[in-house]
Amino acid sequence: MSATILSGTETAAVVRSEVADRVATLGKAGKQVGLATILVGDDPPSQIYVRNKHRAAQKAGMISIDRHLPRTASQTDVERVIAELNADDQVDGMILQLPLPDGLDAEGAVETIQPTKDADGLHPFNLGLLVMGRPGPVPATPGGIMRILGHYDIATTGRTAVVVGRSFLVGRPMGLLLGQKGVDATVIQAHSRTRELAEVCRQADILVAAVGRSQMIDSDYVKPGATVIDVGINRDGEGLVGDVDFDAVVEIAGAITPVPGGVGPMTIASLLANTVALAEARA
Ligand code: NAP
Repeated sequence: MSATILSGTETAAVVRSEVADRVATLGKAGKQVGLATILVGDDPPSQIYVRNKHRAAQKAGMISIDRHLPRTASQTDVERVIAELNADDQVDGMILQLPLPDGLDAEGAVETIQPTKDADGLHPFNLGLLVMGRPGPVPATPGGIMRILGHYDIATTGRTAVVVGRSFLVGRPMGLLLGQKGVDATVIQAHSRTRELAEVCRQADILVAAVGRSQMIDSDYVKPGATVIDVGINRDGEGLVGDVDFDAVVEIAGAITPVPGGVGPMTIASLLANTVALAEARA
């Protein structure tokens, strides 16, 4: 039997329409919502992501502000732009597009973003709120995955969730969200040093792959009926490929996100949702 396809495109349309309504409500009260992006260098995928974020922000009725620095920009140059945007009243949320070119300190730069304008939820203060289970902007990709699980009524309480990957961008906050009170999954955080990874993954009722290795998770890693969330975006000859071997896993999983059209669209939708929430808090 083939798995249910968890469409990020469909879920994102719902979120984006909710965001547009909230932006319109703020607009009626005289408050425009502004999202700024900072791109350093000319990495082609990053340019596409940034362009898509601007399009989505504008479609939701937001003002979008684009700051593009050359690849030769210094740490001070990046942090100067962040300081300008921190001080700019038009800006409710900003994102620093990652990765930064070699030689720049991404975490150091993120730390200079005012936490109340941190649309990506990656500032240590906001990650601290997440650890404490308090409200705040949640990292966009894991936040989007939680919304997909909610949209498709995937049960989490008491379920075993295995997250493969522990980056501060995806894997680590994903584990925190799945394990928080009210979600109540039992979380196993796997990584490159995990032994017998396939066996560990087969324990999962919910398996999240956030590794960055093309089609690494095959049917050996998946318990029949499990929900499989593929975060990976890998480029090979065939175009975009996830971390999951979709054709094999779709036959045994209960539900699965495709690539493209799964987690990717939800990342942008969550970013917009974080931005409008920050604007509401400021208003
Ligand atoms: P990352 O910072 O490189 O982290 C990768 C994680 O995978 C690390 O924790 C690493 O373990 C673990 N890992 C690597 N090889 C492994 C192996 N053989 N077995 C088990 N674990 C292994 O990457 P990331 O930023 O989290 O991104 C992960 C993937 O998601 C990438 O493909 C990225 O493009 C994609 N992504 C997609 C979206 C989206 O919107 N769809 C958003 C963000 C990222 P160690 O910690 O031990 O090194």
